[in-house]
Amino acid sequence: MKQSLMFIPTSRKEIDEDVTSKSYLLMQKAGMIKQVAAGVYTYLPLANIILKKIEAITREELAKIDCVELLMPTLQPKELWDESGRWNKYGPELMRLQDRHGRDFCLGPTHEEIITSAIRDHIKSWRALPLSVYQIQTKFRDEKRPRFGLMRSREFIMKDAYSFHTDFADLGLFYDKMSLTYENIFKRCGLNTIKVSADNGAIGGSDSTEFMSISEVGEDTLVYCKHCDYQANLEKAVAIYDEAKLEEDLKDLEFIDTPNVASIAEISEFLGYNPNRTAKYITYFDELAKQYYLVVCPGNYEINETKLANLIGASELRLLDDEEIKEQGLIKGFIGAVNLETKDKFKLVVDESVAKLKNHTAGGNMVDKHYINVNYPRDYQADFIGDIKEVASGDLCHCGHELVFAKGIEVGHIFKLGDIYSTAMRCTYLDQNQKEVPMQMGSYGIGISRILMAVVESHAQNNSEIIWPKELQPFDVHLLVVDIKKEEQTKLAQEIYDLLIANNISVLYDDRAERIGSKFADSDLIGIKNRIVVGKKASDGLVEFLNRATQEQHDIEIKDVMTLVNDNQ
Ligand code: ATP
Ligand code: MG
Repeated sequence: MKQSLMFIPTSRKEIDEDVTSKSYLLMQKAGMIKQVAAGVYTYLPLANIILKKIEAITREELAKIDCVELLMPTLQPKELWDESGRWNKYGPELMRLQDRHGRDFCLGPTHEEIITSAIRDHIKSWRALPLSVYQIQTKFRDEKRPRFGLMRSREFIMKDAYSFHTDFADLGLFYDKMSLTYENIFKRCGLNTIKVSADNGAIGGSDSTEFMSISEVGEDTLVYCKHCDYQANLEKAVAIYDEAKLEEDLKDLEFIDTPNVASIAEISEFLGYNPNRTAKYITYFDELAKQYYLVVCPGNYEINETKLANLIGASELRLLDDEEIKEQGLIKGFIGAVNLETKDKFKLVVDESVAKLKNHTAGGNMVDKHYINVNYPRDYQADFIGDIKEVASGDLCHCGHELVFAKGIEVGHIFKLGDIYSTAMRCTYLDQNQKEVPMQMGSYGIGISRILMAVVESHAQNNSEIIWPKELQPFDVHLLVVDIKKEEQTKLAQEIYDLLIANNISVLYDDRAERIGSKFADSDLIGIKNRIVVGKKASDGLVEFLNRATQEQHDIEIKDVMTLVNDNQ
């Protein structure tokens, strides 16, 4: 491909680095993506070539496990989402619209409903199972905070696969196969991923595994143990709760004066307690259910909102602001669950470790008052109790060693859905005894466009230089001619171009009338590993061959070009 005919609008403009990521800067500067609206991008030709390569790898690997490709519509009718119950549950991320007749539709963020309706209408017998299908398609999610370009966009390319089984064990076997397939796909894309057990989120189901590319700009926090195989997303991670070991007798509840003592730090200091003996009381509101919650967790921990939302089945939780706290009859800094007069307004959610925390604290629901020697369930009772606290630095793994933390980019997520969709949507089959049984389902997603960004993030040296992993290189060779006005240079470059093409080597030929400095800068941004420069020495029949990864450089004759290209694949 001649570069003069390609549309690669590179830019030297510096963007404020603080507001974005290395990959976003590089992709902007390399003329790979163009923002159209917040979280909406055009994939320019260079990005498109690489996306197609990621897709090709994905297709090849899925074919190996007999997963077959189809293509479902982006436009999805509300009726199917009503059947699964997700029309009301999905929340504001779902892009909803109406047709000219006032019928409700959404733009697919995922396709469980569409595929389940297709399978239930066409598959009736155990003989036709198992079955797995996938598509590579544009998805829509009205993300609250679109970020880092393709990393979290509102329109993005996903590979989504779905599998249907007679029983849970068979689903398990396929899930494990898919997990290996995912590892192969990410490896071939040049990503080192780790697998973590994860929260199922809006997709639902029992187990799920995320594939994380470790990166500073990752939005997910991973928690893992260096001594055993424990690896989990922070939204799911659990640790040993040491305070449970505090052996103490229950003391009598006391209501005490705590002048100007409101925060956990202040109350700890005032009472001479370690913060791990205190409890914190946080108020939430679920916008969808219009329900207030008072949430209790140990004073030295934070609440994990995903864990909390899962425990109480809330989909649009938010913290109350100071004004609302007052309106609900509470006093900020002195909120507690003991003898709470406005209790009817709130559902009480208690972290399970607080239930084990002997003689803890509670706000007195009066200014400058606290309770001490509070004990659960003696002094207050929960509507919900479970694990809602976030694992913190220093916490121990179940094997006894300290857990470690890392940031990761979620590039894939696989789910054991079980029969939640098949029961809700009556996707059943007849077993060998002619009994009607719901199918067991799996759902498997890969963020194709997010992979592109994650690859740039892990392979870019800085924001103006990248070397693509072997299988994703947009071209095999970048051929540059220094001065297009010199006929000996353009002639030799054309010969090399023809030779490479004849040998099935893809080549980007920079034949533009640009200064060589600018051609080099563009070449660093475009990121092809092997570069051939035709310059002054063309008059002696010599060109320069550079492997940008090893920095090895040779002056070679045209007869040696193919050997060097092959040796440096
Ligand atoms: P996240 O927690 O990052 O929002 P998710 O758990 O909602 O992801 P899934 O529903 O599992 O994502 O979607 C499958 C894959 O699609 C994800 O693993 C991710 O790679 C990709 N993906 C999800 N949301 C986006 C987005 N807004 N932009 C780009 N890729 C996305
Ligand atoms: Mg999401």
